[in-house]
Amino acid sequence: MKTLKLALISAALFASTGAFAQLKVTDWAAKTGPLFPHSGIVESETEIGLVDAQQSKAEALRLVADLLEKGKTLKWVYVTHPHLDHFAGADIVKQYFPEAKFYAPKGANAEMAYQVKTRRLPLGQGTLGGANNLPELAPTDFIEAPKKLELGGEAVEILYGIGDHPDSSVVWVPSAKTVIAGDVIFNKTHAFFGDHNNVPAWIELVERIQKLKPEVVVAGHSKTLNPSGALVGQQLAWLKDLNAAMKVNDSWQYVKAEMVKKYPDYANDFIFEFSYGVRKPKMK
Ligand SMILES: [Zn+2]
Repeated sequence: MKTLKLALISAALFASTGAFAQLKVTDWAAKTGPLFPHSGIVESETEIGLVDAQQSKAEALRLVADLLEKGKTLKWVYVTHPHLDHFAGADIVKQYFPEAKFYAPKGANAEMAYQVKTRRLPLGQGTLGGANNLPELAPTDFIEAPKKLELGGEAVEILYGIGDHPDSSVVWVPSAKTVIAGDVIFNKTHAFFGDHNNVPAWIELVERIQKLKPEVVVAGHSKTLNPSGALVGQQLAWLKDLNAAMKVNDSWQYVKAEMVKKYPDYANDFIFEFSYGVRKPKMK
């Protein structure tokens, strides 16, 4: 009887601390710029879920090395949106973890092929080691992701919407109160906005994230490791200022001048000219 009582008490304690279900999330940052993309590593006791797979061969290999040293099964890889700096390293991850399932939002395979064709070399110019350090091919067989993925018996949720790409998403890990934000939330970094014309919809997705009250936010791009919940408010302010500047004068020169004035310590101020340069007419 005494033993049973103790067992019940310890079960209740475990349930209240979430010790059985708690997933751990690590903010994994690229070591090299100029983009400094981040990945999120979600871990249960025996399994790993990886969110975003880096751009260059070197960063993907560094990421693989860290995953290998965990000694766990890589169950799935999820790419938050079809931009090179988040999916290009996926084939390298696949070489070392062929059993993992690779997921991405709907329509991602065709968009990835387009991105490889049009942006691989321009982006490669800013990458340490140049084009030789960029994977040559787009992965072509991502599985369309469901709304929830599973790890260690716990559901990990995906919120779809618009970020720096019109088919963006973030990953919400409830037990860790953590959002892995892909390119919906950046940290002290000017965000790319050349793939759509709908900044208000981007604001709306960040407001949906805010309602979850995340304590930890893994930003898609950051020069530092600072996965704070405060990044949500920081991104909302930046987006509202961007939207306002674009309404006053829709040119890269004006928008850049306004945003750099307001956010002088942010990285990647080249992104304003680049975003306007690749914008297509009549975007959604
Ligand atoms: Zn990115």
